[in-house]
Amino acid sequence: MLYPLSILSLLLLALIHLTHGHNQRHSHGLQPSQQILSPDSIPYQTRVFWMRKANAALAELASPCPFGAFGSVVVNHTDTSSDPKGRLVCMSVNQNMQKGNPTLHGEISEINNCSEILTAPDGDYRLSTSEALKAFSKLSLYTNAEPCPMCASAIRWSGFAECIYGTSIETLVDKGWGQISIYSYEVFEESTNLPGRTKLVPDVLANETDPFFSWQFDPQYSCPKGCVRTGEDKSCQEIERRFDRELRR
Ligand SMILES: [Zn+2]
Repeated sequence: MLYPLSILSLLLLALIHLTHGHNQRHSHGLQPSQQILSPDSIPYQTRVFWMRKANAALAELASPCPFGAFGSVVVNHTDTSSDPKGRLVCMSVNQNMQKGNPTLHGEISEINNCSEILTAPDGDYRLSTSEALKAFSKLSLYTNAEPCPMCASAIRWSGFAECIYGTSIETLVDKGWGQISIYSYEVFEESTNLPGRTKLVPDVLANETDPFFSWQFDPQYSCPKGCVRTGEDKSCQEIERRFDRELRR
């Protein structure tokens, strides 16, 4: 038989468990290790420079305000022969819509693009396929949003030296984006059986990356620079393209 006090204790324990479970729902009990989040030896201004390039890849390859505004650049920080900030190897953006391929998130699209550039017979690198696979261990991937578990896994399989991101998965969820609730550091922590380590540098320039993901599910939020809300769905559209369409009518 349970006395009222025992019942109260059980209720209290259940409440503590539920509250704890809520706080832990994303982390699965894992914390990022020092190996993954080690102190950053690259100057922050260099990180900022390349993160701005990841944002700029959107306008260069798609539009300043694509719905899936995920842009990335891959940089070789070990090659400072022409610039102390490192050498740009490749850039890409989310291509789900362009290719009708749901797996072509910014980072997956980027890895495909890098492989093509590294192995192009008439390109700057002209690597064999096995040389290209090895080359990833010297490269740093900058992405304007935290990689989802699919992309974080692909980054680990590629063996990148570093992954630097702006907007966090938590912020994406807060803004209304559907996400799988596994953080990139968790994928990195669970992939220690793979060769090499990928250093994770979170929260770089999030104040500039967040606005790219803030307008899609909030009609009151301003469009990114160069875009206005238009059309029946009032989505953000590039100003030049809107004028092009109006001129063609
Ligand atoms: Zn992804």
